[in-house]
Amino acid sequence: MARIGIITCSNCTQEANCASVVCLGDMRKRRGFFEEYKEEELYLIGIINCAGCPTLAAPEKILRRVKAIAEYRLDALHFSYCMTALCPFIKKYQKVIQQAYPELKIVHGTHAPKDDEEFRKGVKELLCPRISSIQDMNDIIKGTLKIPGDLKDT
Ligand code: SF4
Ligand code: SF4
Repeated sequence: MARIGIITCSNCTQEANCASVVCLGDMRKRRGFFEEYKEEELYLIGIINCAGCPTLAAPEKILRRVKAIAEYRLDALHFSYCMTALCPFIKKYQKVIQQAYPELKIVHGTHAPKDDEEFRKGVKELLCPRISSIQDMNDIIKGTLKIPGDLKDT
């Protein structure tokens, strides 16, 4: 039996409105980075999101978020696919989390990886206010994201 948590990139879950459906879908089907639990019972203890892109002093802010689930006998914390594809601070985060919770296993990934470059391009579009008011992460997931040039035709 494994007790896991997921931490997501808040650019994706808060700004781009992702409900973590692909993470949860692959977890149910034991795909992607959940394959290693194929023979095991799996308990999702909680999903948290990163505290937001840090200022110079703030990578430690993430510890407050992690604490919310780490205190519930967590075996592993999964950094979401979006974090692994987008976050320039991921190594620093891993370091501060590991220092605070040395027993906690950190896994870099959740659902089966996408094309990182395409994904980054899509998220960049979604973070621009003109696009984010009419499209969200579901458009990346379903392949319906339109970039500004395409939107002229709609
Ligand atoms: S990894 Fe994918 S499904 Fe999971 S929170 Fe990030 S964008 Fe959403
Ligand atoms: S710090 Fe990293 S994980 Fe957090 S919102 Fe920024 S890019 Fe995403």
